[in-house]
Amino acid sequence: MNTPVRPGCQFASDNTSSMCPEAWAAVERANHGYEASYGNDPWTTRACELIRQMVEGPADVFFVFNGTAANSLALAAMCQSYHAILCHEVAHVETDECGAPEFFSNGTKLLLLPGAAGKLTPDGITHAVERRRDIHYPKPRVVSITQATELSTVYSIDELAAIGETCRRHDLRLHMDGARFANAVAALGASPREITRDVGVDALCLGGTKNGMGVGEAVVFFDASLAEEFAYRCKQAGQLASKMRYLTAPWVGLLEHGAWLGNARHANAAAARLESGLRGIPGIEVLGERQANAVFAALPADIAEGLRAKGWQFYNFIGAGGCRFMCSWATTDADVDAFLADARAACR
Ligand SMILES: *Cc1c(COP(=O)(O)O)cnc(C)c1O
Repeated sequence: MNTPVRPGCQFASDNTSSMCPEAWAAVERANHGYEASYGNDPWTTRACELIRQMVEGPADVFFVFNGTAANSLALAAMCQSYHAILCHEVAHVETDECGAPEFFSNGTKLLLLPGAAGKLTPDGITHAVERRRDIHYPKPRVVSITQATELSTVYSIDELAAIGETCRRHDLRLHMDGARFANAVAALGASPREITRDVGVDALCLGGTKNGMGVGEAVVFFDASLAEEFAYRCKQAGQLASKMRYLTAPWVGLLEHGAWLGNARHANAAAARLESGLRGIPGIEVLGERQANAVFAALPADIAEGLRAKGWQFYNFIGAGGCRFMCSWATTDADVDAFLADARAACR
């Protein structure tokens, strides 16, 4: 039997949304005549320029189809097979990429660190570096952080600066999984530059899909040496689009008039509305300290089941009873309010 699905009411992920109008319109604009292939077209040039403007300075930019490729290939460019990548135990690179970071780096080991609110700490990183320094242990070389985190929290500028400093002290490179980078920028009210280049991020995987595109993420290198031969890595991994304009035109649409930030602010605000509504429902406990576009909550199992039977979709994510409600650029106040009404009724 098919579960009844209401259009527009999916809290499962921010990748259940459609493309935002700005990204879609740009694809339409790009859909005329002939253009050079493999990235030698004006849309790709413009998208690179706009990303450099976004991060306020020089950067080498590459476009790939998804976040798993962006992370895996960027990480592979940052280390050798005998190195280790330090990341949080709930990091997407660990839990949701099917071993791709290890595969593309020819076996580089992910070392998992705990940390409150889905965040690594300078002490945790230092401990992981110092606990073993012998030849038998994979040598820590990269720190991978997720901004916004998998738990909908956001590293502050100070937290990032401290991590960046720790990385420099231990000769570690810093990778940022920015699948929800825009949501972090919106939550902090900071500039992209302040939370990347200025704190020592070497490579940013910049999310396009969850921000409102149909397909596509960008790899942004602040350290030019990492970009050397990276184009070959992308091609070998099947990540070089031949009709590249279709991958890069949506970036132009998102970036040229600020839709990326508007989309992220909207998604964060929808999550804030949802969170405040859920806090008012007896029997539902909001979990964690939400800053970005997902709300985590503990719902009694029968309540969660009843809501799913009504067509609401969300993941069971952390722990027993912990559900994740993800908002996107497309989430409307009416979606949120309809869900809250059903949740209130179910908890009565
Ligand atoms: C969605 C997501 C990605 C990218 O996932 P793909 O499905 O490979 O595009 C990467 N990191 C985080 C934290 C994500 O949430």
